[in-house]
Formats: sequence, C-alpha cells, structure tokens
Amino acid sequence: MFKQYFDATSLHQPVDDVDVRNAYILKETSARELGRGLKGRSFESSRRHGKHLFVSADGELWLRLHFGMTGSLQYFKNDEQGPRHARVLFVFANNHRLAFDDQRQFGQIGLLRDVDEFMKKRALGPDALEIDLAKFRKIPGKRRGAVKTILLNQRLIAGIGNIYADEILFRARMHPATEISRLDEKALTKLFRATHYILQKAIAAKADVNQMPKSWLLPHRGKGGKCPRCGRELKSSRIRGRTAWFCARCQKRTA
Ligand SMILES: [Zn+2]
Repeated sequence: MFKQYFDATSLHQPVDDVDVRNAYILKETSARELGRGLKGRSFESSRRHGKHLFVSADGELWLRLHFGMTGSLQYFKNDEQGPRHARVLFVFANNHRLAFDDQRQFGQIGLLRDVDEFMKKRALGPDALEIDLAKFRKIPGKRRGAVKTILLNQRLIAGIGNIYADEILFRARMHPATEISRLDEKALTKLFRATHYILQKAIAAKADVNQMPKSWLLPHRGKGGKCPRCGRELKSSRIRGRTAWFCARCQKRTA
C-alpha cells in the first residue's frame, strides 16, 4: 500500500545515514550491516508484493520492508518531529528523513541480494492484485477450511490483511466461516471481484481507515457497530486466532 508514497518521496537521493532506533524489526541483518549496505547509495525503484515493498539500492542490494499490521512510512524534514513509533530512519542528503513507523512491531526490515529467490524461499503466493480470475478459481483446489483462512494464507495469495479480508467477505456477502469447498465457480468469481475492488480502493485511499466509505464494514467494526447495509448489530468470532467481524444477516453461510 506504500509503494506510491515511497516512490513519490524517497527515490534518487543518496542515503546519508540509517538510524536504527529499535533493532527488533531487523531480520536477517543488523543495524551495522544495514547502515553499511545503504550509506552512499540511492533508492532507484521499488516493487510491491503483498505486504512487502522491495526497494532497489543502486541495483546492487534490495531493502525489504514488510509492513506487518501497523507499519507505515512517513517522510519529513530533519528538523520536524517524526512519527511516534519510528523504528528505523533513513536520513537523506537533502535534509529529509523517511521513517518506518510501526507501533506493534510485526513489521520487518531486511537486506537482500535477490528478490525472486527470497520469494521462492518464503513460498509467497501470487500478489492478490496480480492474480487473474482463472488462477484465483484454482486456489481452493482440494483444500478445506474457512474462506477467510484461505484469503489470509500468504502462501496461497499474498497481500490481504485481516480487516481487508473481512471487508472483501462483506462485499461478497459471504460468511467468513463458509467452507471453501462449498464455493462454486459463481461464488469464487464474486469473491475475486470483491478482492480486487476492495484492495484497489484501499490502495487509492493509501489504506487510511478514516477515508474508507461509510458503506464499508471498516468504519463500523467493533463492539456495538451496526451493519451499514441492514442496520443490524455486527457480530464477531475468532477464526484461526483472528477476529472476524461480519453481519449475520447479510453474510449467510453457504449451506
Ligand atoms: Zn447486514
């Protein structure tokens, strides 16, 4: 979701310094390696895959940013105050910084030589927005389980977070616990369309929750929230450890 923001702010200017304030989110690299690898180089281009943003540094190295649940980017002037939970700051020669802000610290930062190899090793599924309908329909295969679990499985389809999975199911009018093997071609097509629609809108709004339409589930999820479609109180349940919000009237379980 942060590719456009990164590209608009942080390309083509030398990195003067890397300020690691919290090394917890560094993976497969240390603060020293990160600084040594990036200092003096410029970010040239970026590539998004699911919740990952890969950034090429002078074509030699790739910076890997994974936004986890609460990760975000903020570009600001050196003398301005950065975001509260800045974990790593990239200091540019032009008197600006880019902060990787991450309150809950599920995000990750790493350095790589080869992005394709990394994705193969991690067995990351195709990006949710790059997959076509024919491939999407093949995802369930012989799998069993709740439809929501499949949407969240990054090995099958990368890039759908918990709240957007709920939003997609709300739009497709599907109960999150619907057994995936019960979905026919028509239902899968509906799910595919809803996935594209929701993710594209979310990207256009830079994933800013306050900008999501009132007709969506997102502004209403939480205790006492009412369905924007029928007015009934929303329900929640735990599906494989994640909280699902849904409307029991609008999202019927496929029998
Ligand atoms: Zn409803």
